[in-house]
Amino acid sequence: MDIQLNDILQMKKNHPCGENRFLVLRVGMDFRLRCLKCGRELMAPRGRIEKNIKKIWRGEEGAALKPAGKQEEADVR
Ligand SMILES: [Zn+2]
Repeated sequence: MDIQLNDILQMKKNHPCGENRFLVLRVGMDFRLRCLKCGRELMAPRGRIEKNIKKIWRGEEGAALKPAGKQEEADVR
């Protein structure tokens, strides 16, 4: 699965605060994510995170957190 820095991951499981979207702060063997609602950060192994992903928001779409809109692939490089 293709996950990049600054992507917004929508997870199947909610954070204890009720939010299910997380900003990707670090990728690698372990991912570091920040909850978009309460701002807490968490680290988890890549495999576990990938299993829980419902959807990935990327680029301007993810940054603006607007689920509606065009679906073009943003070139983040
Ligand atoms: Zn939270």
